[in-house]
Amino acid sequence: MNYNKKSVEDVEVKGKRVLCRCDFNVPTKEGKITSDKRIVAALPTINYLREHGARVILCSHMGKPKNGFDPALSLRVVAQRLSELLGVEVKMSKDVAGEDSKRLAAELKDGDVMLLENTRFEKGETKNDPALSKALAELADLFVNDAFGSAHRAHSSTAGVADYLPAVCGYLIAKEVGIMGKALADPERPFVAILGGAKVSDKLNVINNLLEKVDTLIIGGGMAYTFLAAKGYSVGTSLLDNEKIDYCREMMQKAEKKGVKLLLPVDTVVAKSFPDPIDGPVEVRTVASDAIPADCMGLDIGEKTRELFAAAAKTAKTVVWNGPMGVFENPILAKGTIAVAQALADSEAVTIVGGGDSAAACEQLGFAERITHISTGGGASLEFLEGLELPGIACLQDK
Ligand code: ADP
Ligand code: MG
Repeated sequence: MNYNKKSVEDVEVKGKRVLCRCDFNVPTKEGKITSDKRIVAALPTINYLREHGARVILCSHMGKPKNGFDPALSLRVVAQRLSELLGVEVKMSKDVAGEDSKRLAAELKDGDVMLLENTRFEKGETKNDPALSKALAELADLFVNDAFGSAHRAHSSTAGVADYLPAVCGYLIAKEVGIMGKALADPERPFVAILGGAKVSDKLNVINNLLEKVDTLIIGGGMAYTFLAAKGYSVGTSLLDNEKIDYCREMMQKAEKKGVKLLLPVDTVVAKSFPDPIDGPVEVRTVASDAIPADCMGLDIGEKTRELFAAAAKTAKTVVWNGPMGVFENPILAKGTIAVAQALADSEAVTIVGGGDSAAACEQLGFAERITHISTGGGASLEFLEGLELPGIACLQDK
């Protein structure tokens, strides 16, 4: 896939109606936005468009509406917050690409901003229905995609609309693609990837692609146990993907053949059961990774492993990290994740963190400022690392 895509700076936007897909999928509680981070992240592109005389038509999805309009998932709250942040009125449409949207879009003057309703109120959105893509395209003269978090989905508002309009990226996508694209295509070496987390099956597929690129691959968190099982260790009641044991064995062979160093946990923090509540008290002990008792589950990497992983990360020039090393939501089980986050923060390397929980861990633990780039897309950054083509980026014009 070509990552060298045209951005808002490469096209004329003055006087044009620009449909800009953002990621306004913000968390809400009782009708109030609990974090406006994603709205703030969209401001550079919106400001650029306004300052250059575009007529801005914003759109996004929020949550998973099942049957059309749902007041709890209306983007009206986003329009309000955006109005405050921009200091201008952001007009809210009553529909996605219907009569109200058409009327408001036609009334826009240079520099004005409006927001369409939640794109998923239209059933066609997630089906990438050409009728919806066309209706969206008819509102505008240009499509700007700035929703990296949704770029792995081929939906009407993320990709389909580009069949009917010239399409370029905004600053958020440009940054994601610039940093991660460079890391994958032409990394400063040594290049170290660290994988963890709980979505074992999803992430095992990334390993195949990363083994083509990295010098060292580190596996921790919940996915490590399928590897330990592939080595013939018993992993007790730890997370395990039985169907992927052979795959892990193949990956270990591939690493050896390619001369890639593959690091697995040498010791493991175990408990008799998963903490309930997740941040509640839990009795733990540390065992060697080949001595996990049958009635125990591995919930974090042990101290020797923390040192091993941190040392590998520290010598790197490029580090990509996706997935916590343990159940970091519990302070007793957060030590492995802290050790890795600390190693990345202390490193001079280009450090890239992807994955919703890994990003949250960096922020909660106070390391976010010292990471080069924290990706705004969990699933999207993973598919990027997997080497898959992201429809929301592939549809944009090449430079
Ligand atoms: P990300 O969102 O960064 O991609 P995942 O969603 O795959 O990461 O995984 C994050 C979750 O993995 C966290 O909630 C964490 O508690 C859990 N986790 C990490 N290690 C383990 C483990 N050994 N056993 C069970 N869950 C784990
Ligand atoms: Mg997650």
